[in-house]
Amino acid sequence: MSTIDWTQRAAELRPDGRSVIDGQRVAAQDGQTFDKHSPIDNRRLGAVVRGQAADVDLAVRAARAAFEDRRWAGKPPAQRKRVLQRFSEKILAAKEELALLETLDMGKPIQYSLAVDVPSTARCIAWYAEAVDKIYDEIAPTGDSALALITREPMGVIGAIVPWNYPMIMAAWKLGPALAAGNSVVLKPSEKSPYTALRLAELALEAGLPPGVFNVVPGYGHEAGEALALHMEVDAIGFTGSTRVGRRMLDYAGRSNLKRVYNELGGKSAFVVFDDFADIQRAARTVAGSMFFNQGESCNAPSRVLVQAGIAEEFARLVAAEAPKYAPGDPLNPTTELGALVDETQLKTVMGYIDAGRDEGARVMAGGRQARTETGGFYVEPTVFAGVNNDMKIAREEIFGPVMGIIAFGTEAEAIAIANRSSYGLQASVWSDNINRAHRVARALRAGTVHVNQYDEDDITVPFGGYKQSGNGRDKSLHAFDKYTELKTTWIRID
Ligand code: NAD
Repeated sequence: MSTIDWTQRAAELRPDGRSVIDGQRVAAQDGQTFDKHSPIDNRRLGAVVRGQAADVDLAVRAARAAFEDRRWAGKPPAQRKRVLQRFSEKILAAKEELALLETLDMGKPIQYSLAVDVPSTARCIAWYAEAVDKIYDEIAPTGDSALALITREPMGVIGAIVPWNYPMIMAAWKLGPALAAGNSVVLKPSEKSPYTALRLAELALEAGLPPGVFNVVPGYGHEAGEALALHMEVDAIGFTGSTRVGRRMLDYAGRSNLKRVYNELGGKSAFVVFDDFADIQRAARTVAGSMFFNQGESCNAPSRVLVQAGIAEEFARLVAAEAPKYAPGDPLNPTTELGALVDETQLKTVMGYIDAGRDEGARVMAGGRQARTETGGFYVEPTVFAGVNNDMKIAREEIFGPVMGIIAFGTEAEAIAIANRSSYGLQASVWSDNINRAHRVARALRAGTVHVNQYDEDDITVPFGGYKQSGNGRDKSLHAFDKYTELKTTWIRID
């Protein structure tokens, strides 16, 4: 456990909220800022640039110029690899500062900012750095009279728009493949968590990334975000966020230059437990851990828990008994498991869903109340509902807070039908000691990732993304290069 006095460090922090454009820290063109507060106790963290179309335009021009003169894409692959490796090393070297910024900005426990967010961000950048000089292009089998080269080329300027729940990791999932492929990037972080993105841009510059290649413009979605997604000089948008805003991304592309849009959106993941699974204590522990991690503000949180009828009551009791382990605490205390929700709006949304669950007749087995109100921050108890059915609002809509609903089912076919009856399809899991059933159900579940008898495994080596309204395209793994490269065929005549 860390012995650092995080409260003291937090009091000394003076984060810089200015944009990073063309290698420089800059104020907004019109001088506007907004005040950023911490969800921990509503303290003011500082003034952040309220980016508008003019600021976005400046950043996109810088990114375009950097792409056109090939100051990055034109470097030998081994050099690009080394710059990105140094970027990753700098992230690790700044781990305490970055972790503290992340925790203050969006409320997650400092122990997880340190143990998960910073190292995952660094590993993502390092992994794509390694890929730079290891991916080969293709020659098609076309016969003697011609040579057909199939090559991957960088797309140009990538607009990355990311959410607040894992601010650094979500940024890295875009930056890693986009920069490794030779693109320039303009990143618009969430207005609720802008600080680490701005520091990442500075660290990239220190690592030797040429100015203009990676720019960050903070601001609101309907201002800076919209301007970026509508910009005629942006070639692709890598968006992570809500399904509601993901729809807009497609509309912005249609109204502007038909830029490629890659949406990574919401989820309502099903966690399906059969009565032939012997160790239901482990399943209960896992679902609680995965659901309450990051305050339930995870796109892949297993928020619909489907349990076979004969064990549903016992399972609900076991999960409810896990909930107190995740009692909300001060995110700056290194033993805290569950921190603050990102802001008051999110708090009200989550409490609204808890009320809706009660109103529709679901039973509260644990939690259900706001907590730590004396701090001025935004905390909710980990909440377990039993007696839920799949038509209830709490089963249909993404809550994005520490709230799960347990739904009883009868047969395997019924479990599959309920699990798939959702507009989302990000992740799912099946728990069974019958290998045939586990395979059958895993195949039948319509989700981008399906877990069998676990929920925790994750790695940069595997793709991440959803079916249906959970999005298109995939972050992570080598497949992410598909999003940030164009495929070119070059025919060469041979006489
Ligand atoms: P959001 O959609 O409200 O915002 C995401 C980003 O879009 C922010 O930067 C925001 O400023 C910007 N934005 C908002 N309105 C915009 C507009 N009109 N035009 C342009 N940009 C706009 O989402 P959020 O509340 O920040 O994040 C939570 C959502 O993200 C959840 O639905 C969650 O499931 C999803 N998410 C998905 C994944 C995934 O990989 N599939 C990962 C993390 C989070």
